[in-house]
Amino acid sequence: MIFDKGFFISKQFSSIAKNLLMNWYKDRAYEKIGQRVEWYALKYEFKYNKTKITTAQKRWGSCSSKGNLNFSWRLIMAPLPVIDYVVIHELVHLEERNHSRLFWDKVKYFYPEYPKCGNWLKENGHLLKL
Ligand SMILES: [Zn+2]
Repeated sequence: MIFDKGFFISKQFSSIAKNLLMNWYKDRAYEKIGQRVEWYALKYEFKYNKTKITTAQKRWGSCSSKGNLNFSWRLIMAPLPVIDYVVIHELVHLEERNHSRLFWDKVKYFYPEYPKCGNWLKENGHLLKL
């Protein structure tokens, strides 16, 4: 393994390394995103069931009809305000199941800086991978 700002791993170990790194990120994601969900749910009185970390490729988060909040582990690589935006987005889905006007009004109410964060994800989301 060679360090030079980033690091290089020989090809024969790359899939093992990817898996190790992904598992490490998943643990961090579970810890950090779990904390953010708890904090905002308490602050704004959202009732959810539990938080799960998924390997979803195409979505950052989702909200099940049973009140489970799912987040892609890749989200942990984003800046904290972006993580918070996705957390708020999914918490609001507990009450508004679609992306109606009312949904976005609520997101804006709880997290006024959301457009910046949504744009950041659109522009940089594809970089959040191993
Ligand atoms: Zn949504």
